[in-house]
Amino acid sequence: MGRYIGPACKRCRRVGMKLFLKGDRCYMAKCPIEQGHPPPGPATRRRPRMKDYGLQLQEKQRLRNMYGMREGQFRLFFQRALRSRGVTGEILLQALELRLDNIVYRMGLAPSRRAARQFVRHGHVRVNGVKVNIPSYKVKPGETVQARDAKCSREFSKAHLDAAESRGWPSWLNVDKAEFKAVLDHVPTRDEIAPVVNEQLIVELYSK
Ligand code: SF4
Repeated sequence: MGRYIGPACKRCRRVGMKLFLKGDRCYMAKCPIEQGHPPPGPATRRRPRMKDYGLQLQEKQRLRNMYGMREGQFRLFFQRALRSRGVTGEILLQALELRLDNIVYRMGLAPSRRAARQFVRHGHVRVNGVKVNIPSYKVKPGETVQARDAKCSREFSKAHLDAAESRGWPSWLNVDKAEFKAVLDHVPTRDEIAPVVNEQLIVELYSK
């Protein structure tokens, strides 16, 4: 599956919100969104006010880019959520949060989802003691995610774990910093997933 390798901040500026694509820089004052940089494109061009479709599309782009996914894969996640019993938007968010690369990022083994994806792809991560190098692997409650017991893996993660601790770990992950590991306590509820997007708009977009 291909992935976007262009300028990360441009993606945030396009959708007008922080997508946290660059790690530590995203928490600093020099983040272009913090500084109020405008969307990319000619500065003089006046943008028309967005109607329903524009708002729905923007919300979908925000969520998709935040998790670093291509359209096809994102749509697959949505279709699976649609087939599941329950609230489609919430199930979609839960499925995204339970991706292995997202959990590696949330627990602090890597500074961003993009870095976490590479960390997983390069074989630095174990799930229940077994190497898993598939970023979209769905972590289940009770499973343990841990950095490989090797100097290069743990050296890389050490500073990021400290930064994640200072920001606070999610309530649904039990993190053991000394062991570079986390256990998924439970599937996060909607309230436990930072309410960054209006997922109902995404459901409406794909239901057209
Ligand atoms: Fe760039 Fe991160 Fe700010 Fe996005 S949140 S604009 S990736 S620094």
